[in-house]
Amino acid sequence: MNTNGCTATTKSGSPCSATARVGTGYCPWHDPSLEVERHGWKINAGRSKSTRNRARKKILSAALDLHEIDGALCQALLDVLEGSLEPNIATAAATVARTVSAIRAASELEARLSALEAQVGIAPVVRRFS
Ligand SMILES: [Zn+2]
Repeated sequence: MNTNGCTATTKSGSPCSATARVGTGYCPWHDPSLEVERHGWKINAGRSKSTRNRARKKILSAALDLHEIDGALCQALLDVLEGSLEPNIATAAATVARTVSAIRAASELEARLSALEAQVGIAPVVRRFS
């Protein structure tokens, strides 16, 4: 048993496994003297979570399908030839597009492999893109 462990019980009824603050016997989430601070932590955690969710929505709405990426790169090529786009910007766009394509290909392969493993009864392996 951890002698420095929190002596509180979690909402699920099991002993708290967090380390107790020195001299209190409680972790920061169970220490009765930190009630006011805890309230502030919860508010900050909620703000952080909503910021993450907004960022996630923004990222998802920016996702282009491969046809759109193809169109953007073709437009970049035409703009470079016309002189309205710096070639290094088109090169950067092509590099990003190549990376997007590689990530999607890896993700698709993993999904297909997982489906095959499920069909033959092999335990799934945690993978990077699944
Ligand atoms: Zn605790």
